[in-house]
Amino acid sequence: MKYFDPVNVAPEFLEKTGISSLMFLNVSKEPESKPLECLNNVNAYIAKHGGDVQFGWILTIFGNIGLQLTAHAVVKKKDQDLVCVTLDNQRDGKVNFAPDDGIGSLIKNNFLPVKFISLIDCEVLENYIALMVKANDVRVNSSCVLINPKQQLEVIKHEASLLYPEILALAKEQTSQEDLCYCGSRVKRKHCCG
Ligand SMILES: [Zn+2]
Repeated sequence: MKYFDPVNVAPEFLEKTGISSLMFLNVSKEPESKPLECLNNVNAYIAKHGGDVQFGWILTIFGNIGLQLTAHAVVKKKDQDLVCVTLDNQRDGKVNFAPDDGIGSLIKNNFLPVKFISLIDCEVLENYIALMVKANDVRVNSSCVLINPKQQLEVIKHEASLLYPEILALAKEQTSQEDLCYCGSRVKRKHCCG
């Protein structure tokens, strides 16, 4: 299963994230932009064309049971229009985005923060999400911890793999035939994993 952009997010899901509204932004193809380096891309664009940095969240969904919020930087143009200047092959020219000015203070070691939110009450899912949070913390802090971060990540990956069969079963349970497939293909389940 991989994370995918939801077509729309149910209001009760959005409520769990603390995000009040989600907008769809155009992605502008900037020749020098690099994938995953949104803040550098935004700063390079601003140096050339002016504007400001706008921080916010991109929302992706996991197996129709969990949400990931990934901090993202876009350009606020002089006319106040927002535009994303970071291409992503997974997306077709649009990105869902929720502006949040509080993110700037959360950036640590140049890593943009990530949040995980479970959409169903289930202990296994809570444990799985806790492992993802742990893995993310190791990555964020990897430059300042003494213990081998690679080895720590391997241990976490192994622990997560033990929970995975149950997580997959939950995802199947929560995905109707009309929903986008839990696997992340962005195709309806009935035309995908069935
Ligand atoms: Zn599928």
